[in-house]
Amino acid sequence: MSAAAASGRPALAVASECAPLVKTGGLADVVGALPAALATQGWALRTLLPGYPAVMAAARRARQVAGFDDLLGTPARVLACSHAGLELLVLDAPALFDRPGGPYLGPDGRDWPDNDRRFAALCLAAAQLADQGIGAWRPQVLHLHDWQAGLTPAYLRARGSTLPCLMSIHNIAFHGLTPATRLAALALPPEGFTIDGFEFYGHVSALKAGLTGAQAIATVSPGYARELLTPAFGMGLEGVLQARAPDLHGILNGIDTNLWNPATDAAITPYTSPAGKAANRARLVDDFGLVPGDGPLAVVVSRLSAQKGLDLLLDALPGYLARGGRLALLGSGERALENAWLAAGAASPGQLGVRIGYDQALSHRMYAGADAVLVPSRFEPCGLTQLYALRYGALPVVARTGGLADTVIHANEAALAAGVATGIVHDAESIPALAQALGQLCQLWQDRRVFRQMQRNAMKHPVGWQASAPRYAALYAALSDNNKADTP
Ligand code: ADP
Repeated sequence: MSAAAASGRPALAVASECAPLVKTGGLADVVGALPAALATQGWALRTLLPGYPAVMAAARRARQVAGFDDLLGTPARVLACSHAGLELLVLDAPALFDRPGGPYLGPDGRDWPDNDRRFAALCLAAAQLADQGIGAWRPQVLHLHDWQAGLTPAYLRARGSTLPCLMSIHNIAFHGLTPATRLAALALPPEGFTIDGFEFYGHVSALKAGLTGAQAIATVSPGYARELLTPAFGMGLEGVLQARAPDLHGILNGIDTNLWNPATDAAITPYTSPAGKAANRARLVDDFGLVPGDGPLAVVVSRLSAQKGLDLLLDALPGYLARGGRLALLGSGERALENAWLAAGAASPGQLGVRIGYDQALSHRMYAGADAVLVPSRFEPCGLTQLYALRYGALPVVARTGGLADTVIHANEAALAAGVATGIVHDAESIPALAQALGQLCQLWQDRRVFRQMQRNAMKHPVGWQASAPRYAALYAALSDNNKADTP
């Protein structure tokens, strides 16, 4: 362990993704960044991950710290290793995790049929590790990320452990539902299958297990924390969350400001002021085969799913392109959306460049070259792309929802007069509002002095973990101290 990690109070994070090893979205970025952020606050996190092939490759020199003869029907062991500044515990269970494809989907793009067992095994291993410890190491707090880690409190309580858990919601759209007939196969305590436990309309909900079983709940922005209490956003769990409202904390995500630093980023021509973006902009125009023009150059880097509102953007786009605006999109996801964007790109060559795929380096070049980054999400728990946009001096044009509204200062008259605006915020799920926001972008672009000022504001906006790391640390400390006070 690094000196900083070794000297802090021990905590265990449990997650299904962790950058840089395995990532499908923002969850991985946050799980990967929290250990360093919390090390500055006196906490030493170890992160338990499934032993997917990419994780096992990083764990080649790991040592075994625990073994299971029968973990939900399969032998397994836990390996400990350091990787990229992270202290990892890897659940090596080949029958569950040694497969091609992504963390949740097979190569055919469908959920693995045994996802319930795969992630229940992760939770069961977490509970046993935390409860028994490894040598002298025993976590004071468990930090559980999304439904894949949600069953941990149920297994802990079944063992009689009072170790405190913080359940983090990164996206409430995913519940981890499985039929009640799976209770025994997943070794879940049947007494937990109630409306106050993990039962959800006749199914087992792994996320609900976390929400009802953890001592505290966190989500990734104050805005989303408020929204989650409403039927429009709570996805059927709003009642559960209302009952736990005093224990629900909205804490904004930060980004890794070393990895995302336009002054040192190896993927781009580095710069420290908006004027320095020019070479990156020229390359971006080139990369996407766009024609040089008078309008702003916007980008989208996103999963292509209904959540992200990119179907709305397709409808709002014609006016923007007609005003000389150009757009480069990088994304992958739902087939219908991919095809719709490819067709739109083919219809507007030179103005709209579309790349279907997942490309980390290209995403860096896009933030560096862009004048604006569009995030028209229907809902967005926190959102990271608008934070990268701010950091790279590309103005975020975002829907007024969740963490987007918490992180961007809209260019209204007052903010412009005060010289503090960092982007444009529009009503969510409204094509006219989105079209109007794109119109405002074009208008602001005409006044380069104002545009540059906004870019400078954006680049100065704090987007790291400075504010949020102490909040997590305070929560961990409160949970741990309460537990000590309650333990006879
Ligand atoms: P979500 O987790 O809902 O997908 P976030 O904004 O929280 O949304 O995080 C998305 C992360 O994934 C960001 O780091 C973004 O840059 C990255 N990303 C999304 N799509 C792509 C892509 N096609 N290529 C490269 N990076 C991508």
